[in-house]
Amino acid sequence: MLTVAEAIAAIVRETSRLSAVRVKLADALGRVLAEDAVSDLDSPPFDKALMDGYAIRAADAARPDARLRVIDEVLAGQVSRQSVGPGEAIRIMTGALVPIGADAVVPVERTRLEEAERDQTVVVVNPAGLSVGKNILKRGASTRQGTRVVPAGRTLRMQEIGALAELGRAEVAVFPAPRVAVLATGDELVPVEQTPGPGQIRNSNESMLVAQLRSMGAVAHPLGVARDDPAELRNRIGKGLAHDVLLLSGGVSAGKLDLVPAALAEAGVRQVFHKVLVKPGQPIWFGVKEPSGATRPVGAVRPCCVFGLPGNPVSSMVCCELFVRTAIRALAGIEPAEPRPMRGTLTRDHRNVGNRPTYHPAKWEWTEQGGRVEPVKWVGSADLGATVEANALAVFADADRNYTSGSIVDVLLF
Ligand code: AMP
Ligand code: MG
Repeated sequence: MLTVAEAIAAIVRETSRLSAVRVKLADALGRVLAEDAVSDLDSPPFDKALMDGYAIRAADAARPDARLRVIDEVLAGQVSRQSVGPGEAIRIMTGALVPIGADAVVPVERTRLEEAERDQTVVVVNPAGLSVGKNILKRGASTRQGTRVVPAGRTLRMQEIGALAELGRAEVAVFPAPRVAVLATGDELVPVEQTPGPGQIRNSNESMLVAQLRSMGAVAHPLGVARDDPAELRNRIGKGLAHDVLLLSGGVSAGKLDLVPAALAEAGVRQVFHKVLVKPGQPIWFGVKEPSGATRPVGAVRPCCVFGLPGNPVSSMVCCELFVRTAIRALAGIEPAEPRPMRGTLTRDHRNVGNRPTYHPAKWEWTEQGGRVEPVKWVGSADLGATVEANALAVFADADRNYTSGSIVDVLLF
């Protein structure tokens, strides 16, 4: 049986990123940039006033109470047609282009207007600390034309969106959001709004997986419930294979009606692995459907990654965090695709019973002593309610071991 690390490595090996598409900048948040974004202009594009005040020649303010003639006024977005000569000043606002001749801006708080002299306003300047270049941001000081501002491979956050807007990119090339079909299987499942009859349960996995996928930046398409019937399964699997990823929940263990592995084999999905040494989620199945061949599903032009997730809700959730998330990240161009754990100190003793590494629902918080992690009370893979109290999975990697309070463990944050 594969370990979690081996299974994740197999998923990374089998998955390649989607082809880049062009999207509007407003739709690019969370996507990975597919090309370097290089500055087409200097930034700022001109010598720019950083304060409201007067554009002057610094040399004119060498002595206290220098008196300068105000010859013009320039607001942000305007260009003065005058230049600043010796003994002159131009009133200027923050963001305006610094007029020719001026080499400093004196803040308005350091000045005092005097009575007009023959129709000319005079400003008295207190020169303390005023030197050449003061309160002026030189053209190109933050970015020179031709500089790479946002590198290819970067996941776009607000910072990159702002920088790309400054670079004039109304559209950008990104790796698209993977499209994922979700198919729940099981004769016992009833819709969420129904009260289950004897032996029935509500289909919680569909809503949960759709939410989980959306939180990963994927586009989720629920395909409803397939009954435990080979013909129905075959039909729904065929629809699901037209997506980048197909998730099935249920039907992958060793029960009499666990028909999913056989149905996937029949649909031409190549099995990569079945079963991983992990708790919960051991029966997980993973395979790839190549787009070629006579059975190529309509619309499928690239491989489809197929996951058979065990039906128990927490098993589905944990397998989605560990394995499906890795595939989604790889398809979306996020590197590394593998899950990246934090660490935390256990706040109490915990025994990992059994022969498998356990991903235990837990509360993680940052404190002055660093990350602290508390496993929540959890009775096993059907206990979805316990995860409501959790914001993470604590990784108890060693089978059959007592973890004492104060031990440090890996933690995967939800
Ligand atoms: P299976 O993997 O099909 O053997 O199912 C394992 C357990 O998970 C059974 O108790 C199922 O009733 C339950 N289960 C399967 N599918 C779902 C689902 N979509 N929502 C909630 N529980 C499920
Ligand atoms: Mg089942």
